[in-house]
Amino acid sequence: MHKIIGIFGGTFNPIHNGHLRLAIELYEQLNLAQVRLIPAGCPPHKTQPNVTNQQRLQMVQAAINGTQGLIIDDRELQRKGFSYTFDTLNSLRDDYPKTPLCLILGMDAFLGLSNWYKWEYLIDLAHIIIVGREQYDLSTTTINSFLQKYKANNPQVLTRQIAGKIWIQDIPTLNISATQIRAIIAAGKNPSCLLPPAVLDVINTQHLYR
Ligand code: ATP
Repeated sequence: MHKIIGIFGGTFNPIHNGHLRLAIELYEQLNLAQVRLIPAGCPPHKTQPNVTNQQRLQMVQAAINGTQGLIIDDRELQRKGFSYTFDTLNSLRDDYPKTPLCLILGMDAFLGLSNWYKWEYLIDLAHIIIVGREQYDLSTTTINSFLQKYKANNPQVLTRQIAGKIWIQDIPTLNISATQIRAIIAAGKNPSCLLPPAVLDVINTQHLYR
């Protein structure tokens, strides 16, 4: 069986150390083939980013900067219209027909999954890895029964089939959000150490988030 490809989508507005630590921890702990960072084109359930797609892409490029295991994937930015994860996974499945794909979601994103376009079919296209960000409430019955139905007992199961399992990975996460960084910059304060210096360079040079 092939090694697993991790798929990590986000607005990345901007990408920060919380995202990067998550990707690196998963790459190392689950021995992934790679983690593909996929900046969202027009996220249907988020307000429009206030920087251009090209600028968000540039910041992700600057953030990765040769880090082993992390790959940038701009397929959602190349596509016209809304970016649905369903379409992205179909397109990745066409590219990698025999490789296990794992959609990486923060617990907050997983709890809102039932609002996503064709959400019940995502599990046919990829596994899901959930990463806890903070205390969560799994009492939402729809998403809890979805979790119970597909939950794997151990992460090795994910290497034996190309899709169809959910794994909750307990990794340390950094309490950083893009919202917090945008607010710090808008207030004229210094966001250093929340994001890589190369990303901050792009932000400062292009006067973003002011
Ligand atoms: P915003 O504050 O603008 O909502 P964000 O910081 O949550 O942005 P996104 O680009 O929306 O970043 O996040 C993409 C994915 O990364 C989501 O699955 C989210 O749960 C996860 N994520 C965001 N921040 C962190 C963090 N600090 N640690 C772990 N996962 C994170």
